Amino acid sequence: MAHDTSRARGIRAEDHDSYCVLEGRADAGLILLCDHACNAIPPAYGTLGLPPEQLERHIAYDIGAAQVTKSLAAALDVPAVLTRYSRLLIDPNRGADDPTLIMRLSDGAVIPGNKRLDEAERERRARLYYAPYHRAIDAVIDQCLASGTPPMLLSIHSFTESWKEMPRPWHVGVLWNKDLRLAKPLLEGFYAEGDLIVGDNEPYSGQLEGDCLWQHATCRGLVNALIEIRQDLIRDAAGQEAWARRLCRIVTTISSATFPRHAPAATAGGVGGASTTQRGERPGMNGGGAMTKIDNSLVTELEAAAFRRLVGHLRERGDVQNIDLMNMAGFCRNCLANWYQEAASAKGLELTKEGAREVIYGMPYKEWQAKHQKEASAEQKAAFAAAAKPHGA
Ligand SMILES: [Zn+2]
Repeated sequence: MAHDTSRARGIRAEDHDSYCVLEGRADAGLILLCDHACNAIPPAYGTLGLPPEQLERHIAYDIGAAQVTKSLAAALDVPAVLTRYSRLLIDPNRGADDPTLIMRLSDGAVIPGNKRLDEAERERRARLYYAPYHRAIDAVIDQCLASGTPPMLLSIHSFTESWKEMPRPWHVGVLWNKDLRLAKPLLEGFYAEGDLIVGDNEPYSGQLEGDCLWQHATCRGLVNALIEIRQDLIRDAAGQEAWARRLCRIVTTISSATFPRHAPAATAGGVGGASTTQRGERPGMNGGGAMTKIDNSLVTELEAAAFRRLVGHLRERGDVQNIDLMNMAGFCRNCLANWYQEAASAKGLELTKEGAREVIYGMPYKEWQAKHQKEASAEQKAAFAAAAKPHGA
């Protein structure tokens, strides 16, 4: 990415107890994230009852990922947000209501300090060690959006070289959910290296609702992908630097080729079924250049207006059954309510499932069901069962 020293640097470095922000250009079009940067535990928690050597393992953090993130951020002059505490305390890459948010058992190790946690302790960990990181990411995104260049989000992780004694062949994996706009060129970049076994949504699937990228990128329509590097490759400084250089080269090529800065918008439409209506997408949302000057809060207003019409339409069409929506389109009113609730929670707002449903239905869900919901036919149920896809982990 070319430097433009006439611009303000934008994102300033910040040091906080539970996270840090690395400085970088606000208009770089890229933010790096490292959810599992550290294996530290706040002193009050000791070692969470684990033998200290367990904290050196992958269960506590992503070995090597923090240094790769730091070197890459410096090389590209882009901002980065990194955690400061171990995922064993609370996992920032899980939704706030994910059952694995605070693990009791991880890769064969029982975590004594996570057994029998009461609600107050869960709330405390979320407040001190989870929410601040997510707020910081949102704040950095907001600053980048204000610069006029929607940022891509690239999350850096590492994985163990074997799982349940099975060696993992991949050197690197690219994880993605529905949005291939960054994942595809990353995969191609890694394939082109010639010396790598590359995982496409391996060793994990990127389709985990509620995870960090889902909260900050999917929910905000920003281009995103997650990279998993096998940890033996980045365990020492030499490996970390080599991988930072490799990523720098690949990301620079992508940034200049796929997302040319200041270049006219390309034809609309993402690759591989990516939505064309997402805000961060240069080609799609901004209408082929006609709306590139539009200010982001106005874009949000337009999106909200379309959302309100959708909700209004669904309220008028009480005859349209949720199960038919699911069978036809893979979503229904309850999904909309979930998305609304999740967007609220990503902003730190407490909203119950019932409350979110009322926003969508315009009345309590039970009342709507009594008024409009019909008994599903065997045919509808069968179609629903056939359409239900297993969910990635
Ligand atoms: Zn990780």
